[in-house]
Amino acid sequence: MRGQAPDKGLYFPEHIPVFDSSFFHNMEEMEDEEIAYQVIQPYVGEAIPSKILRKIIHETLSFPIPLVKVNENIFSLELFHGPTLAFKDVGARFMSRCLGYFSGQDARRGRTVVLVATSGDTGGAVANGFYNVKGVEVVILYPSGKVSSVQEKQLTTLGKNIHALEVRGNFDDCQLLVKQAFADEALNQKLFLTSANSINIARWLPQQFYYFLAWKQWPHKKHPPVISVPSGNFGNICAGILSHASGLPVQYFIAACNVNDAVPEFLKTGKYQPKKTIPTISNAMDVGDPSNFVRILEIFEEDMSELKRILSASSITDEETKKTIKKIFKQYHYLLDPHGAVGFLSLERYLKKNKELKGFFVETAHPVKFFDVVEPLIEEKIPLPASVQGIMDKKMETTKMEVDYNFLKEFLLKL
Ligand SMILES: *Cc1c(COP(=O)(O)O)cnc(C)c1O
Repeated sequence: MRGQAPDKGLYFPEHIPVFDSSFFHNMEEMEDEEIAYQVIQPYVGEAIPSKILRKIIHETLSFPIPLVKVNENIFSLELFHGPTLAFKDVGARFMSRCLGYFSGQDARRGRTVVLVATSGDTGGAVANGFYNVKGVEVVILYPSGKVSSVQEKQLTTLGKNIHALEVRGNFDDCQLLVKQAFADEALNQKLFLTSANSINIARWLPQQFYYFLAWKQWPHKKHPPVISVPSGNFGNICAGILSHASGLPVQYFIAACNVNDAVPEFLKTGKYQPKKTIPTISNAMDVGDPSNFVRILEIFEEDMSELKRILSASSITDEETKKTIKKIFKQYHYLLDPHGAVGFLSLERYLKKNKELKGFFVETAHPVKFFDVVEPLIEEKIPLPASVQGIMDKKMETTKMEVDYNFLKEFLLKL
């Protein structure tokens, strides 16, 4: 329920479970939900009864996660078939239902309020994931005029327990307001305030499902895949590496970054230097100081040579990203979004140097979420999926505010 540990560090499992090889051999015969249950159960232990955990998993995996062939050597693991068209749906849905369960268990806690600042994608997934979850109110701060129209609709059209605050400022202002609320002791005595960002283990751990479900579908079982993961805050790839630590067969991981290259630089030079964020067209990966990278170091117990045996990182420019979207659409009629394109190109380059290998990249968002970038490149309109069509005509409800902490505090106390 607490996103960050009290000492401001990140929670990390004391023990990483290891599955026997029969689990991987028999996976094709197993239901997706059973695989997910086996993967997450060791981390949940007795904290959630198994019947309820199965129900949570059932609601989390309510959409397909297909592995699609793009060419002879490259597959795409499509994680964008959820309600907000981005991979964050899985983590957000799992976390929301755990939080709902725990809030219901402890009535003395009073009201649970999830408070998040969003630059676009996280807010939608959190809003959708927590919608109608009993005992939990959600307050989302977003910068006025700086999220896409689809994203704003996703934040503001649900109502009920989801409250959107449109802040006349930028993303950093929103984040600062949220931090002030977490540091306000008087406020925290009245409400149980928690965050839903990607450092929360209930969002991080269930992302392992993707990698196990990809293995179930991987057609070349004798040759484990090279996996390229578009990375920003490094939560998703860290879940992949954790799966590998549990025995999942993987040849190699590539952390595919845009020009925000703190990790690629670190792997090159051995010096970690947080950087100022540079805006790009793959904006969900515009992170100058990725929070979850320390968890990757922890998996390898900070042994750099072990880490480099399984992981490298690449940095791709916007120009290269655009060229890739155009080329792959022309050549294979497969439409990439900017994040997936960074993943594709990084994988293609690696496979060029390692001709005997095959792999997949993770397609983290539906291209329609970035239609303003993608449509001019392919000179075609992208049809809106049904889930988005439904919300585009809905009325937006949002509360406008200045960058003013007292306003936020009053708002939270009145919920
Ligand atoms: C959040 C996000 C990423 C980055 O994922 P991390 O776990 O933060 O590395 C990549 N692509 C899309 C579309 C995202 O929304």
